[in-house]
Amino acid sequence: MSITNLIQSTLNLKEKYLSFDESCLEKQKIKGVEALVYRATLAPPPPKSCPSCDCMNENFSIIRHGFKTSTLVLPRVSGFKTLLKLKKQRFFCKHCHSTFIASSSIVEPNCFISKNTFHSVVCELKEKSSIVDIAKRHAISHATVNNWLHQ
Ligand SMILES: [Zn+2]
Repeated sequence: MSITNLIQSTLNLKEKYLSFDESCLEKQKIKGVEALVYRATLAPPPPKSCPSCDCMNENFSIIRHGFKTSTLVLPRVSGFKTLLKLKKQRFFCKHCHSTFIASSSIVEPNCFISKNTFHSVVCELKEKSSIVDIAKRHAISHATVNNWLHQ
């Protein structure tokens, strides 16, 4: 099993173009608390069409254009707060000159808390755990848990 497959299984992620390497994990103190910080790269090929102008990607009209890194909250691993520093492929459309970022199934667009964390929180809300406890267990704010409860 490759490192990428092994870690994706451990973190319960299923993402075709997501890769991890041998030095992808480090323990870091964040606000005085030890956390597991994983690094990964999401580098899918350019899409078939541009999400801004809908032009088809022909003759390399949509090209790779650097990366953007965001830090995402994952469910805890072995009791540790767990973060994913995700380096996401950026693309450039030569038709409309817009740039856009590769999307993934890990988080909703413009969100930094993973879908896995969201689902875990929703399960615990059904068990009637307290909002403060759930927020603590998932290393996120109780305001976020409160928002999700009311959604
Ligand atoms: Zn475009």
